[in-house]
Amino acid sequence: MAVTTVYAVLGSPIGHSLSPAMHNAAFRALSLNATYYAFDVDAKRAETAIRGALALGFGGLNVTFPLKEIALRHCSPDAMARGIGAVNTIDRAGTGYNTDGVGAVRALEEAGIEVKDTSVLLLGAGGAAKAISAQLLVKGARVAIANRTVSRSLVLARQLIAANFDYGCGGVEAHDLAQIDRLLPEARVLINATTVGMRGVLGGQTLVKASQMHPKLIVFDIVYDPIETPLLREAKAAGLQTIDGVKMLVHQGAASFALWTSEDPPVQIMEAAAREVLRRERAEKPEVR
Ligand code: NAP
Repeated sequence: MAVTTVYAVLGSPIGHSLSPAMHNAAFRALSLNATYYAFDVDAKRAETAIRGALALGFGGLNVTFPLKEIALRHCSPDAMARGIGAVNTIDRAGTGYNTDGVGAVRALEEAGIEVKDTSVLLLGAGGAAKAISAQLLVKGARVAIANRTVSRSLVLARQLIAANFDYGCGGVEAHDLAQIDRLLPEARVLINATTVGMRGVLGGQTLVKASQMHPKLIVFDIVYDPIETPLLREAKAAGLQTIDGVKMLVHQGAASFALWTSEDPPVQIMEAAAREVLRRERAEKPEVR
C-alpha cells in the first residue's frame, strides 16, 4: 500500500493559515499521495515538534509566527536563511530555507517588473521586510528601507550589507517614515511590509495616500487580510498598478512546494485555493471600513 507523505505548517495561532488549502489543492492537482496539516505549536514546543516531524518522515515543514527565528536552531539553514536569521521552510533532510523574499520577488516578476536596477521603497523593518529586502538586493534592486523606528531600519541595512546581499554595491539605504515624501519620487515600486492596514488594530489605516503617489508608481502591499488594503485602495484611486499580498503568499508557498517535491508547482491552483478561503472568511467577518 502506498504511504501518504505528510507535510505541515507549525506556528501559533495557526487556525487561519491558508497553507493547508493551498498545498492540498496542489497535491490534488498533481495527483500526489500527500497531505498537509496545520499544527498549533508555540515556542516552547518548537524543537520537539520540528525534530519529531523530521523523525516521523514528514515530507517537509513550513514554520510561521512565532517560530521563524527559533526554527533556525533546529535545522541546517542555507546561506540565505542564515543571513536573514529566519526560516519558513524545512525539507525532509532538515535543511532550512526562507522563501518569503522569493515569494515577493516572484510576485513583482509576475506583474511584469524587471527587478534588476529597480528602485524600491520598502516600508517596514520587521521579519517580512528583512526577507524581502535581502532577496531584492540579491536580484540587483536598489532598496530604500523606511521604518517607524529608524534604529531598526539602520540595523537591518547594516545586516544586509554585512551578509553581502548587495554584493558590496551599496544598494540599500535606511530611513524613517518621515522621509516617505522625499523618497517616493525616486521609487518605481512601493512595498508595504508593515502591519499597517491589517485587519484588527491597524485595519483601515495607510502610511501613504493617493495624493503622495506619482503616476508611474507600482504599489505592492504584502498584507493579505484584507486583500484590498487601504493602501491598495489609495493606489487604485490614483489609477496605479497594484499587487496584493496573496500573490506573495502563494509564491512563497509555491517555492516551498518546489523544494519539497521537485515538481513544478501549480501556482494558479494554489492561488485560487488561497483566495477561496479568504473569500469565505471575509463573508463570515466583513471588514469595517
Ligand atoms: P513584524 O516583524 O512584527 O514587523 C512589523 C513592522 O510593522 C515593523 O516594521 C513595525 O515598525 C511596523 N509597524 C507596526 N505598527 C506600525 C505603525 N502603527 N506605524 C508604522 N509602522 C508600524 O511583522 P512581519 O512578520 O514583518 O509582518 C508584517 C506584515 O506582513 C503582517 O501584516 C503580515 O501578515 C504580513 N506578511 C505577509 C506575508 C505574505 O506572504 N503576504 C508574509 C509575511 C508577512 P517598528 O519597527 O517601528 O515597530
